[in-house]
Amino acid sequence: MKKILVVDDSSVQRKMIIQIIRKAGFQNETMEAGDGLEAIGVLGENFQDIAVVLCDWNMPNMNGLEFVEGVAQVPAVAAVPVVMVTTEGTAEKIAQAKAANPNLQGYVVKPFTPDQLKEAIAPILALAG
Ligand SMILES: [Mg+2]
Repeated sequence: MKKILVVDDSSVQRKMIIQIIRKAGFQNETMEAGDGLEAIGVLGENFQDIAVVLCDWNMPNMNGLEFVEGVAQVPAVAAVPVVMVTTEGTAEKIAQAKAANPNLQGYVVKPFTPDQLKEAIAPILALAG
């Protein structure tokens, strides 16, 4: 079973997301990164094992937009599904993220309900096996 990579600069937010994943019944192992730069490292070493990346936008060092843009440009990791999980919920921001990474598979706006997150990742995990 592939893993879920949770990228957020707030450890509280990461814990909350992982708790929702568990309560939703997904048994995938989770990995964490505190910013885009760290996420690039984790993804680079584990991309074959990662089913989906849940990515915050506003983070230090490398933000989520820069991260998804970078991912889209590296053929080895470009196919890894990414779901943005962010307060940046305007149509303009969503369009900007989708332009940065055409493989963006979902967009969850904070604050979100457990069901919203579950619905965003369930179809991706079903395909990932
Ligand atoms: Mg943040």
